[in-house]
Amino acid sequence: MMATTHALWGMALALPVLATTPEYAPIAFLAGLGGGLAPDFDLYAGHRKTLHFPVYASIAAIPAMVLAAIVPTAVTVALAVGLAAAALHTVSDILGGGLELRPWEGSSERAVYSHYHGRWLRPRRLVRYDGAPEDFALAGIAAVPITLVGDALITTIAAALVAVSAVYVLLRKWLAALAPRLARLLPAPLRPYVPARYLDI
Ligand SMILES: [Zn+2]
Repeated sequence: MMATTHALWGMALALPVLATTPEYAPIAFLAGLGGGLAPDFDLYAGHRKTLHFPVYASIAAIPAMVLAAIVPTAVTVALAVGLAAAALHTVSDILGGGLELRPWEGSSERAVYSHYHGRWLRPRRLVRYDGAPEDFALAGIAAVPITLVGDALITTIAAALVAVSAVYVLLRKWLAALAPRLARLLPAPLRPYVPARYLDI
């Protein structure tokens, strides 16, 4: 799934905070945004493995959510929503395509690495690839309630994420064709730093 879809679903996890302890809603929305994006910071270094912890993040999120429910403060709420958003991101990566430049070809059986199991979990392909129409639909589903109840800043962020998603969806297959060509133009000393999936043509 797109990083923007993960970000929006992370923000959606702040909606219960808005309903129960609205004074912490702004920090919760931002924590959801950050937690939803954070795992993909490993894009160029062991993508979907280095910062993806589907089991451990899920386990860690439970006591964090309990603590935030019992003792709601800005810190406990941000920690709970941020961890839950990161957990949701890594678990939902299983529902998408494999780790390859053109996931619609279905040639990779690597969805996300489970450090707990010590192996790659296989992609379920309910969302065929990041940037697929169904991926955009998921982003939109999360964005609707956020923009309906969020303040001006949160609504602007959500709208911007949807706009970026729309552009990415339109360009997705063109970008997949462009990436290997750009990678080939790089000087030889830099090529070891390019992820293998960008050099596969
Ligand atoms: Zn991811």
